[in-house]
Amino acid sequence: MTEKTEQLQQWIQKSSRVVFFGGAGVSTESGIPDFRSVDGLYHQKYDYPPETILSHSFFQRNTEEFYRFYKDKMLALDVQPNMAHRRLAEWEASGHLKAVVTQNIDGLHQKAGSREVLELHGSVHRNYCTRCHKFYDAAYIKAADGVPRCSCGGVIKPDVVLYEEGLDDTTIRRSIEHISNADVLIIGGTSLVVYPAAGLIDYFRGDHLVVINKSVTSRDRFADLVIDDSIGKAFGEIKVE
Ligand code: NAD
Repeated sequence: MTEKTEQLQQWIQKSSRVVFFGGAGVSTESGIPDFRSVDGLYHQKYDYPPETILSHSFFQRNTEEFYRFYKDKMLALDVQPNMAHRRLAEWEASGHLKAVVTQNIDGLHQKAGSREVLELHGSVHRNYCTRCHKFYDAAYIKAADGVPRCSCGGVIKPDVVLYEEGLDDTTIRRSIEHISNADVLIIGGTSLVVYPAAGLIDYFRGDHLVVINKSVTSRDRFADLVIDDSIGKAFGEIKVE
């Protein structure tokens, strides 16, 4: 155990108001690529940049192309939570952690047992018909040939926040409540460049701001503790009662 993880362990142990704010880097150790790491999706070659494909207007105009990318790269259904997801679920169950606020859409925090999960960008596990609003699960989307369609004939859209779309008001309000009431805020596995999500951490007024990220973030210089290492490894060293 390093001095840094030992410090973090002490803060978590003493607190009952830890909040975690995370992103795609939390799930890379489960085998889901993030966007901005060297082997992330932004460094792979596609006909269009990923932020174009994952935009509202592209979904409307090129639905088939959108689904080709989405099913291939974003819809990983056979993945398992890693140490980072599991530790966060444990800390919630033992009364130390209040909430996970995540930019991820993979549902792995819930799969690990976390209960209070605020999904700022939605979830691949919820899908709706754009015509009649009937619900479909992710397996239906994955199995569909081409563009998934509802029994009414309408196009089904994942309940994920695409570029050009707004975030859900209730999710933002609850995230702000949790972050502003936290005494320890752990930011992990996120480049902190996607707004408005990244701006929510400005509501933190607590005692200890922690950043765990493999690369430098804009918040490192404001943090009380910066761990530039794998989040699964760092959390794996921490044991709280
Ligand atoms: P990002 O790709 O911009 O940044 C990920 C950050 O995590 C990078 O700074 C990287 O250095 C770091 N990182 C990667 N693996 C790590 C590890 N094991 N331990 C510690 N740090 C690690 O991701 P973002 O900031 O979340 O923004 C991208 C957007 O794309 C988000 O909106 C997110 O919803 C979406 N996205 C989600 C998933 C998912 O649901 N798993 C996957 C890809 C992208």
